Amino acid sequence: MGSLRVVSAFYIKLKAFSRIFTAVLLTLGLLILRGSAAEAYGLQPTNYRKNESTNNQIEQKRRIVYFQTLPLAVVSESQPDCNIDTCIALTFDDGPNLVTTPQILNILDKYNTPATFFVVGNRVAQNSSLLVRMQLSGDEVENHSWSHPDFTKLNNAQIKDEINKTQAAVIAAGLPAPKYFRPPYEAINANVLKSVNMPFILWNIDPQDWKLKDPGSLVQTIASQVKPGSIIILHDIKQNTISALPKVIEILKTKYKLVTVKQLLNLPEGSSGEFSKKP
Ligand code: ZN
Repeated sequence: MGSLRVVSAFYIKLKAFSRIFTAVLLTLGLLILRGSAAEAYGLQPTNYRKNESTNNQIEQKRRIVYFQTLPLAVVSESQPDCNIDTCIALTFDDGPNLVTTPQILNILDKYNTPATFFVVGNRVAQNSSLLVRMQLSGDEVENHSWSHPDFTKLNNAQIKDEINKTQAAVIAAGLPAPKYFRPPYEAINANVLKSVNMPFILWNIDPQDWKLKDPGSLVQTIASQVKPGSIIILHDIKQNTISALPKVIEILKTKYKLVTVKQLLNLPEGSSGEFSKKP
């Protein structure tokens, strides 16, 4: 009988505990519904691609997605560690463009996917709000020269001018100075390498979106060639790229963590040389 009492006392305690536990869960659930989840967890919503978009519909949708997925996001979508996770990087060249770049950003927002933008400096000033949006969304903005020339045809002073003017334009837009350089046309020689004091970021997947007529073949090329550590080059000024991008991200996300170039390579300060994938 004694042992039965102990068992039944334990059972009553267990029931009381489970009631308290349920109450705590319900309270947490209510807090989440009220949008106070970040405070409840003591966390900032780091996976929320914040931006300055004035498009209320997009803003509202994004909030709904955020609050619906927050508990999962907190558990499973912490910052990727590319020493452990299988990472790849999506990169976009030749923007920013007033019409096409916001469409790319909307898709990245929808899939909560960061990317790296190699911007042409002389297109920055008139599109500085797009750079701010990239920065706030967790994207990376890097240097793709001032006017997109073939650097092997420039003298040292011209090379420095192309780099420095773009650095200044990005800083003037309110962003940190770019850390990486992508040479237009992949045009590099010993003199160019010596004259630009930044890591050269190339790529190992090039679906040639600038000349493709069919978004389907763009998806196919990327899906068949991608490998762990890949850097994929696309252009945020091409309509085909916009059409293909949702499918591309959906396919890549089944196997890989999509990260920025900085997250992928994690290069020490002062690094130099050419990088076409994670070493
Ligand atoms: Zn380019």
